[in-house]
Order: sequence, then C-alpha cells, then structure tokens
Amino acid sequence: MVLVEPGRLEIQEFDLKSPAPEEILIKTRVTSVCSTDVKVFHGQVAFARYPVIMGHEFTGEIVEIGPQAAKKHSVKVGDRVTPEPYIPCGHCEWCRTNYHYHNCPSVGLYGISLSCKIPPYLLGGYSEYVYLVEGTILHKLSPNTSDLAGSLSSVVGNGVRWVKTLGQLSFGESLVISGAGSQGLCTLAAAREAGASPIVMLGLSSDASRLELAKEMGVDYIVEVDRQDPIQIVPELIGGPPHVVIETSGVPEAIQTAVRLVRPSGRVVSIGLSGGKSTSIVFDELVWRDITIVCGKGQAGNVADAMRLINSGKYPFHKINNYHYQLTDLERALVETEKPPMGFIKGAVVFD
Ligand SMILES: [Zn+2]
Ligand SMILES: [Zn+2]
Repeated sequence: MVLVEPGRLEIQEFDLKSPAPEEILIKTRVTSVCSTDVKVFHGQVAFARYPVIMGHEFTGEIVEIGPQAAKKHSVKVGDRVTPEPYIPCGHCEWCRTNYHYHNCPSVGLYGISLSCKIPPYLLGGYSEYVYLVEGTILHKLSPNTSDLAGSLSSVVGNGVRWVKTLGQLSFGESLVISGAGSQGLCTLAAAREAGASPIVMLGLSSDASRLELAKEMGVDYIVEVDRQDPIQIVPELIGGPPHVVIETSGVPEAIQTAVRLVRPSGRVVSIGLSGGKSTSIVFDELVWRDITIVCGKGQAGNVADAMRLINSGKYPFHKINNYHYQLTDLERALVETEKPPMGFIKGAVVFD
C-alpha cells in the first residue's frame, strides 16, 4: 500500500527478488497502526520521503537471509522477528552511544524516511513483504508471543524508556501516568516491572476500554480527569503527591497538571506531542519546588528490555491492538486512529 503523496494511498505491485547479502526478506504478519502514520499521511512529518510504504511497528516471518546478514544476526528462515524502526548508521558519535542513536544525522526510519522509489523498495510494514536492510536492529519473538504483541516492540520500548531511561523510576516510588493510550498502557507495564508503587492512571471517562485494560495490567488507581480533579484526589488516594508523573498525552493542560501534581524534588517525564501548541509554565515554581522535567524521543536502546517483557507473557499486550484491518482497509484504519470509535485502543493490519 503505497502513499504516493500526502493523502493518496494506492495498491502497487513490486517484483520480489532475493535479498542482498546484508539484507533479510520477511513476510509481514502484523503491522500496528501508529499515530505517526496519520501524520505522515497528512504530510506533517518533515523527514518523510514520498512515495512511501508506511508502517514502522511490524512483525514478519523470515523467508530468506543474505549471507552477511546471516553472520550478523543469529536468526534463521521461519523465525518471527520485529525490527526497531530506527536504522542507525553505526559509526557516528550518536551511534556509538547505547541510548541515543536516534539522534544519528543519517538515521533511517522504516515506513517514514525510506522511499519506495529507492531499492529494495519494500521498506515499510504496509506491504506483504519487507526487506530488512543493513544496520537494522532485530529482535526475535518467542514461540508463545503473538504477532499482535510483537508488533508493539517499539511502543513497549517507549514505555521502558519513559520509566527506566528518562524517569529512572525505582522500587517503591509512586507514579502517576497521564494518558490511557497505548503509550500509557506500555508505560504501566514497564513501571510495574521497575517496582513503582502505587501507580495511578489519569484518563477520560470515554477511555473505558483502555482503563479496563489498565486494570487488567495491574494499575492501582484510576482517575477520570473529566469527572475528578487529579490535583485533589491523587494525594488522597496514595497518601501524598507522587514521586514521578509520566505525561503521555501532550495536551497542554495535562502537562501543567503533571507539573502541579508531582511532589517537591519530583520528576516529570513529558513525552506527548502537543501538535505545535505552547504550554505555559511558570519556571519559578519549578525552581522553588525543585522539579525536574525530562523530555525526549522514544526507544533507542530500550527494545531489548521491551522484548524480554513481551516474550515473558506477563502482560496482555496483544489486547492493546484491539481493532484489526486488512491491508486494503488501511485508509479506514488511519481515520479510526485519528478519530477513535468507542472502544478503540489501537489498530493493527493483520496479514493472512
Ligand atoms: Zn510508532
Ligand atoms: Zn549514526
């Protein structure tokens, strides 16, 4: 499914050939639909290169492996794998760090920055086959892991990043997660692994299915912010303001709430995108209350942890992708991702 230019999707056929020596060919199984896809569809992502086959959260079964790729990755034909979206150059100062290779100036991004004008053409998850190119960081699904869960490797990786790398949460610290979307749910799983306790999730009353899944994933308290004031109720629920707030929604009022809610000397991790809107914050308050705010991009160096978590089977990640589509329904999947129908958590294109 080629996005020929912003707003115009078209089914196209490409010849399939053997992968180059450093490449792997996979048959796509599941591609999870991301809100970034919606932005690429509308032409709002500066580094997108059209025409493009979108899709950067996917799993596939290995069909053929080039000899050099076989030496580098310990995988075989038939293995189910998921690549990280970022393809680092591997040589620059950023790529020689463990957690910051997404700053690489020549980083590639499956489904966004790699146009299908350029060989090997099939470089995004909304395609029946994908070539995994040189530099790809690859993770294996265990036999018991579903493709629906595996396709969330980078999303769970983000949760790990907000909790471990940015939030540096540790055992016994209290946490508020603002936003009940897939980012919030994956943050919840990572926070439980880190030993954060108690954990409160802030959502909307219209988020019922998301909040239900949060309960199943072990959240301690839920606050519906359109019904209750979190500034008042959260300290009552957990016996004081939280050590850490992770704000995933990007809504300016929610960012302000996060700053007001956290305890003195606490940390706010703010990673939601506000779509270019400004958020007014009085920095004097941050100084007097000794607050740290951390922002940042997702998942570089965090997907290995995420895959251990997914492969452990401890959390029902597959239930996050609760709307399923065929490839030919991609446009509807994008529309529903942008304006979620009642009960929608996250969509996925499921291949036969
Ligand atoms: Zn994504
Ligand atoms: Zn680099």
